[in-house]
Amino acid sequence: MSGFHGLFIPGPTNLPFGVRQAMDVPLEDHRAPDFPAFTLPLFRDLKTAFRTEKGQVFVFPSSGTGGWESAISNTLSPGDRVLIGVFGQFSHLWADLCRRHGLIVDVVDVEWGEGVPLDEYARRLQADKAHTIKAVMVCHNETATGVTSDVAGVRKALDAAKHPALLMVDGVSSIASIDFRLDEWGVDVAVSGSQKGFMLPAGLALVAVSPKALEAHKSARCPRCFFDFADMIRTNKDGYFPYTPATTLLRGLRGSLDMLFAEGLDNVFARHHRLAESVRRGVAAWGLALCAKEPKWYSDTVSAVCVPKTFNSDDVVKAAYHRYRLSLGTGLSKVAGRVFRIGHLGHVNELMVLQALAGCEMALRDVGIAVEAGSGVAAAEEYIRATAPTVQLGKVA
Ligand SMILES: *Cc1c(COP(=O)(O)O)cnc(C)c1O
Repeated sequence: MSGFHGLFIPGPTNLPFGVRQAMDVPLEDHRAPDFPAFTLPLFRDLKTAFRTEKGQVFVFPSSGTGGWESAISNTLSPGDRVLIGVFGQFSHLWADLCRRHGLIVDVVDVEWGEGVPLDEYARRLQADKAHTIKAVMVCHNETATGVTSDVAGVRKALDAAKHPALLMVDGVSSIASIDFRLDEWGVDVAVSGSQKGFMLPAGLALVAVSPKALEAHKSARCPRCFFDFADMIRTNKDGYFPYTPATTLLRGLRGSLDMLFAEGLDNVFARHHRLAESVRRGVAAWGLALCAKEPKWYSDTVSAVCVPKTFNSDDVVKAAYHRYRLSLGTGLSKVAGRVFRIGHLGHVNELMVLQALAGCEMALRDVGIAVEAGSGVAAAEEYIRATAPTVQLGKVA
């Protein structure tokens, strides 16, 4: 089929040509004497992406879920208590993963569409005078609902309570797309994956850790082997890995970091904000609501759009896919059938967003939802026009 399939799910995201080219290399010897000349600068530059100087970033051949597993198994012991807000499928799965590792999980159930409950976190941390809570978890960007949470606010709550718990962040759908600062926010473990903001195929878990997390690692007793930080530390030091690394993906990661740095991380975040805002203008013009309840929760990487109660959002996703070759995200779990999701992260620009909005509004109309033809695209266009760089236009005399 001609043209590009519209990939607007919140990961895997579109693969930039430059990244694909960076991966188009012969398979290589990961124990070669000059392999470290490639890996050591890569490790260093990854720290920039997580905004850490003091920390260290590990790269596992895995998906983001493996990153979660490494975060927990390396820093905690069975029977340890953790605090986690659950407000979507990904925070739910993380809580489940903690339970399966034998941790005691204090869940704060939050309505889907809201984010991390800072007041409730603060209250529980203040009340925990004996410091039985060993880690506080936050899903920075809940991909199921399109909600971004205030990670720095959680750090403030920990500090205000003088609580020593580790701060762990799921940044799978935020890091490299939305502002994230490991050192400044006092994050101890941050997890990401290759197939979202890093614009790569799935297959790498990126795990950034603070010196405090590395200290906790020394006494943590959860069983671990494949994900053990110790083996990574020992071998990464010289530019190698404890087992076969995904060398092709590492080459792609080099290409991806080069692209991100060439644009400038702050510009990358600003672009994601602009694109997200143009999507939100479009959704508002359709007269539809976002799953995210308030602007402070709005995600710059994914928008979950509610369909009117008498419709099934899966039908919209199906129509978009089969009629217009546009992939949208479905509603997951609690919001299945109620929302569809537009992923706007990674290798995306303004006109691509218009493509997604055009496909959405045709699909919405196809299933009988009363949106005005072209209304979302028009609203987004006006926002894009208002925020695009100005140019001097020549006048015809
Ligand atoms: C995609 C995602 C995950 C899961 O990552 P996998 O790579 O699918 O294992 C976890 N958390 C969030 C917030 C995500 O968006």
